[in-house]
Amino acid sequence: MIKIQKNKSLKKFNTWKINSRAKYFCEVETEKDFLEIFDFIKKEKIKYFILGGGSNVVFLNDFYDGLIIKLKNNSIELYDFKKNIEIEAGVILDDLVKFLQQKKIYNMANLTSIPGTVSGAIFGNAGAYGLEIGELVQKVLVFDLKTAKFKEFSQKVCNFSYRNSIFKQSNSRYLIYKVFLKIGETKKEQNLSYTKLNQYLKKKINPNEIRKEIEEIRKEKFGDLNKIRTTGSIFKNAEITNRQFKNIQKILPDIPFWDLDNGKIKIPTGYLLDKLLNIKGKKFGNIKINKDNALVFYATVNVTGKEIFNLIKKIKKNIKKKVNINITSEVIFIK
Ligand SMILES: Cc1cc2nc3c(=O)[nH]c(=O)nc-3n(C[C@H](O)[C@H](O)[C@H](O)COP(=O)(O)OP(=O)(O)OC[C@H]3O[C@@H](n4cnc5c(N)ncnc54)[C@H](O)[C@@H]3O)c2cc1C
Repeated sequence: MIKIQKNKSLKKFNTWKINSRAKYFCEVETEKDFLEIFDFIKKEKIKYFILGGGSNVVFLNDFYDGLIIKLKNNSIELYDFKKNIEIEAGVILDDLVKFLQQKKIYNMANLTSIPGTVSGAIFGNAGAYGLEIGELVQKVLVFDLKTAKFKEFSQKVCNFSYRNSIFKQSNSRYLIYKVFLKIGETKKEQNLSYTKLNQYLKKKINPNEIRKEIEEIRKEKFGDLNKIRTTGSIFKNAEITNRQFKNIQKILPDIPFWDLDNGKIKIPTGYLLDKLLNIKGKKFGNIKINKDNALVFYATVNVTGKEIFNLIKKIKKNIKKKVNINITSEVIFIK
């Protein structure tokens, strides 16, 4: 039977360590738990939020007047001659990458050290150094919190795109329960094409070493999560029209860009923040901006969700004023 905790502190469940409390909090593991949680939500008529590792969320208020659901299950099963893998969605993503590495399977190595769970990564199609987790998905098993039924989504139906998926678009309707990845199929054993990674990997590298290299790069970029409070990059890179791009190029002729398949152009938002607002290394109240990367916001002391929200709002407004584009935050605000 599920155990519902009341007035639960959420501080240790989010990487900004925001000191918010939830009216109700429950850890779930089995299919029976999911049905019980469904009944509880219906009976109490309350809002709910499914929390993974809390590495991409900001609690906006001191109190969440609803139920926080957290997945407890975390087993990994490798089958089909190492080609496919079934993962319970509560597994820590980096534990999965490490597990595969130990089995000499290296094609998830680019996702080394991304904090959080596999379910959180699927929800936001997490990615780094040229690989997004959605590329490896075979199917996802979910529990539908609207109908209390289990459903399977193929990779196509998951509709993955840049930091997006059907789960993100469905407003917490689906509780991601199990994820099936095709880890032996792709030829992208080591994707070293991404420039930032390449620049570090000048020497010819043994696949075994990619994980170690990435660990070092990321430690330098983000710092130690035990000491700082952050959700990593706070904004998504911007996808803009050709016309918007030409306008920005007039102001920033050297701005890097990538042509996208949908005809749009992707530009690094960090570059805009740096060149247009000059915020690298600056401090706004309790929030600091990384001295080398304008996208990475962090704090070393207590910070509230409102402070983070207001700073993001101000920066969005300033960018809009300077180059007339809307930038989008990567982090999810919980009201
Ligand atoms: C230092 C640092 C570096 C980072 N670097 C990267 C990076 O390189 N690339 C990148 O993509 N991200 C990065 N992130 C952001 C974050 O780690 C990822 O978005 C991660 O995948 C979030 O996983 P999580 O389990 O913490 O999800 P949470 O933050 O807990 O939740 C994120 C969303 O997923 C949903 N969710 C979680 N579990 C479930 C479930 N079982 N069912 C349904 N919905 C669910 C939540 O409802 C929420 O909307 C970084 C964060 C930090 C702190």
